[in-house]
Amino acid sequence: MPYCLNDIKNNFNEEKIKDLIKQYQPPFWVYDANIIYKKIKLLQEFDVIRFAQKSCSNIHILRLMKNKNVKVDAVSLGEIQRALLSGFKHNTNDIVFTADILDDKTLSQVVNFNIPVNAGSLDMLEQLGKASSGHNVWLRINPGFGYGHSKKTNTGGENSKHGIWDPLLAIPIIKKYQLKLIGLHMHIGSGVNYIHLKKVCKSMIENVIKLNQKISSISAGGGLPIPYKFNEKPINIKKYFILWDLARKEISKFLGKKIELEIEPGRFLVAESGILISQVWSVKKMGNKNFVLVDVGFNDLMRPAMYGSYHHISVISGDNRNIDEKKTIKTVIAGPLCESGDIFTQKEGGTIQTRLLPIIKKGDYLIFHDTGAYGASMSSNYNTRPLIPEILLKNDNVMLIRRRQKIEEILSLEI
Ligand SMILES: *Cc1c(COP(=O)(O)O)cnc(C)c1O
Repeated sequence: MPYCLNDIKNNFNEEKIKDLIKQYQPPFWVYDANIIYKKIKLLQEFDVIRFAQKSCSNIHILRLMKNKNVKVDAVSLGEIQRALLSGFKHNTNDIVFTADILDDKTLSQVVNFNIPVNAGSLDMLEQLGKASSGHNVWLRINPGFGYGHSKKTNTGGENSKHGIWDPLLAIPIIKKYQLKLIGLHMHIGSGVNYIHLKKVCKSMIENVIKLNQKISSISAGGGLPIPYKFNEKPINIKKYFILWDLARKEISKFLGKKIELEIEPGRFLVAESGILISQVWSVKKMGNKNFVLVDVGFNDLMRPAMYGSYHHISVISGDNRNIDEKKTIKTVIAGPLCESGDIFTQKEGGTIQTRLLPIIKKGDYLIFHDTGAYGASMSSNYNTRPLIPEILLKNDNVMLIRRRQKIEEILSLEI
C-alpha cells in the first residue's frame, strides 16, 4: 500500500527521504526492513514460508529473510549462489530450485549441493534422475487453468510454459531413479480471487489422490497480491490460510500422515517495503499534454512498461516550496530512455495515460511507491545505463546494500 509521506509515523516520510536524498545521489531504491518483518509475521501460520527471491534478490534482503527463519526459492544458478552466499544451507531444504529446464551447469550445482528440485518438466526430472539417483524432488503441476494480474504473469493453463501437465507420467521416472518425492507444488499466478483459489485447492487434493504417493509437503506457491492503490483492500490472509489448511487436512487424512503446508510469496513480502526515488530533469508540453521526465527508466523499473502496472507516485519539492496536493494537473511521467514506451503512466498494451499530480517543477523528486518487488531485480543495462544503488533502512541504520554500478563495469565485459 502506498504510504502518505506527510505522516511522520511512517518510516518513509518526507523528512527521512530528504535526508537520504542529501546523503545519496538519486536515483536509488530504498527498502524498510520493518515492513518486511511485518509481512513475514502475517504468514506465521504456514509451516514454511519460502521467499521467491526473484522478486527482490539482494543478498542483504535474503539475509534478513534467513534471520526470520524464512526459506528461499531459487530459479537460476545465480539465485542458488545468492542464497548460499546469504547463509542458506546446502544439503537441507533451505533452498528449493524451481525451473522448467536444467542446463548442465545448474544440474551439477544442484547435485553437488544436494538442493531439492521442483521440477516443471519431465525432461528435467529424467536428467536429474540420471545424474543423481535418490535426489529430493517436488513436482510443479500445471492444473490446466491459471490466473494472474496480467496475461504475462498467468502461470497455468494451455498458454503457460510452466509445470507438468500430467504428473502421472512423472511417477515412472521417479521410480526408475528412486527419486524422493517430497511434495506437490502449484503456483498459479499473481492475484487472488477466492473462488479461483478454491479451485486450485481442489485441484491439489485431486492430484494427490490421483498420484497416491507418500509426499510430506504441499506448496501453495506465491501470487499473493498487495494493494498498489490507496483504495484497494489487502488480501485476507486468514481466509487464504483456511482454504489451504482445509486442503492440507484432507490430504493428510487421505495419506494418513502429517503434511507440511508451504507458501512461496515474492511480492507479498517485499513490494510494500520499497520505494524508488528519482529526480525530475525536464517538464515539457507536447501539444496539450504535460510531460514530466525523470532520471529512471524502464531499465530500472520495468513493471509499468511490461505489464501496464500502476505505482503510486508522490512529489517532494526540490526547492522547499509547499506542494499543493489539491491543485493537480493531468501529467504523463516518462523516463530518459531512447524508446517511446519509456512511460510510467501507461495501461497494459501500452496506451499512454495521464495521472492527476500536483504541479511538478524541474528539480523536484518523484517517489514511486511499492517498488520493493520486481523493481531492482528486474532492472537491466538497456541504453548502457548502470544499475542504481539499493539502500536498506533497519530501524535507525541506513545501509547501502548495493552500490551504483560503474559504466566501466558494463563495458569491461566487452573489452
Ligand atoms: C515468481 C514465483 C513466485 C512468487 O510470485 P509472487 O507473485 O511474487 O508471489 C513463487 N513461486 C514461483 C515458482 C515463482 O516463479
